[in-house]
Amino acid sequence: MKLIFERSRTGRYESLIPECDVTPYSFDASCLSAAKPHLPEISEVDLSRHYTELMKQVHGVNDGFYPLGSCTMKYNPKINEKTASFLKFTQMHPLQSAASSQGSLEVLYTAKKLLCEITGMDDMTFQPAAGAHGEYTGLLLIRKYHQMRNDTKRVNIIVPDSAHGTNPASASMAGFKVINIPSNAEGGVDLDALRNAVNEETAGLMLTNPNTLGIFDKNILEITKIVHEAGGLCYYDGANLNAIMGHVRPGDMGFDCVHLNLHKTFSTPHGGGGPRSGPVGCKEFIKDYLPKPVVEKTPIGYDWVTPVHSIGQVRSFYGNFLVVVKALTYILTLGKEGIKEASANAVLNANYMMNRLKEYYPMSSSKICMHEFVMSLEELKKETGVSAMDVAKGSLDFGIHPPTMYFPLIVHEALMIEPTETESKESLDEACDIFIRLYKMAHEDPEYLHNAPHNTPISRPDEVQAARNPVLKYDFNQE
Ligand SMILES: *Cc1c(COP(=O)(O)O)cnc(C)c1O
Repeated sequence: MKLIFERSRTGRYESLIPECDVTPYSFDASCLSAAKPHLPEISEVDLSRHYTELMKQVHGVNDGFYPLGSCTMKYNPKINEKTASFLKFTQMHPLQSAASSQGSLEVLYTAKKLLCEITGMDDMTFQPAAGAHGEYTGLLLIRKYHQMRNDTKRVNIIVPDSAHGTNPASASMAGFKVINIPSNAEGGVDLDALRNAVNEETAGLMLTNPNTLGIFDKNILEITKIVHEAGGLCYYDGANLNAIMGHVRPGDMGFDCVHLNLHKTFSTPHGGGGPRSGPVGCKEFIKDYLPKPVVEKTPIGYDWVTPVHSIGQVRSFYGNFLVVVKALTYILTLGKEGIKEASANAVLNANYMMNRLKEYYPMSSSKICMHEFVMSLEELKKETGVSAMDVAKGSLDFGIHPPTMYFPLIVHEALMIEPTETESKESLDEACDIFIRLYKMAHEDPEYLHNAPHNTPISRPDEVQAARNPVLKYDFNQE
């Protein structure tokens, strides 16, 4: 499609605004730019068509199935957008006094209480701007805990190889040394490897649970016990709480802090990097280290409070507030039973798809999965030459977004599928039929899949070039 500047024609522009009838203010010349801004000149109808065409180039949950594993691209009820657009929330100023922001503070306080209940934690900050930022914040709490006890030898964070990729990255950012441990044959943490890894230098363990293989670690209580006995703390990557919320709580499994991805489990669409929120919950004994300020209920109303040994601020103001409004709306509309049902359906949907597809695609684990599962296309590639990438690209021709590819790294030719709870049996069946059809195509016409997708505006961009040398600006000199 054409860029808006390519549609532009000099002088084609009509203002619908009446002529100004007040004396214009004259800015000092030093404040003004000498050159006119380079703006497209376009009629209203062409402008409208331009954006409608752009909109059609995007794949979102409202266009079709979006099984991007580990990302929870689920349908977000419109009512959540509605409450987040209330003027009384959108018109707030972050520097407003607590006395004039009681309603917004109540939102933060209520959301914190409910999320603490859901996770089994005692307090929570909403400052972190995303999941990985939450991990970093949680790790700073762990570091502070050891520092306050003068236990400065503890510099290691243990991360199983089935962890989300952000876990080792955050530990490293927070100044820790990352100790990797392998998974056992069932895809869980290898307990002997964990026992060998812990010592007086262990600051803590970061666990993604369910892990990136979609497995709930059945040794979870033993894992947290081993780490605690060695003097370390336990961090729970709860980005994918979609699988367990309402059924089990990280706090009851022995974890000391946890981050959530409100933008995955608790509404807020996040494709394309939209606003996120990675709140961090923690147990009573480390809550004095939380970023400042936290919202508390006092006898005269809600107020901002600075925890006594706060690690400081990790972001400006109070985090992405409107994402919290959506999460609270989501929790309140679902209610206690609805929360449970949402995660039960997420797990049911994933198992349904996995069982329909396992005849064709070998699965990374023979166990019941949680909210997502990982298929390995290693065999298919050996037999037909068709890779995970080819199948993923092929799925685009059938109007479904590709699953997550080549992740987790411990599975070769991986495709990771997360159907989410809001998909009906009919859409799951349709998606399964498409994956089965792609499997058959791999055997019958591999060349077709090597060149897929065939029906999209762009077929196969050079992904390395696009990531390393993105062209984000229009070059006016081309005109
Ligand atoms: C998505 C995800 C993250 C990172 O969250 P961001 O908001 O992208 O920073 C961390 N851990 C797990 C398990 C995730 O799925």
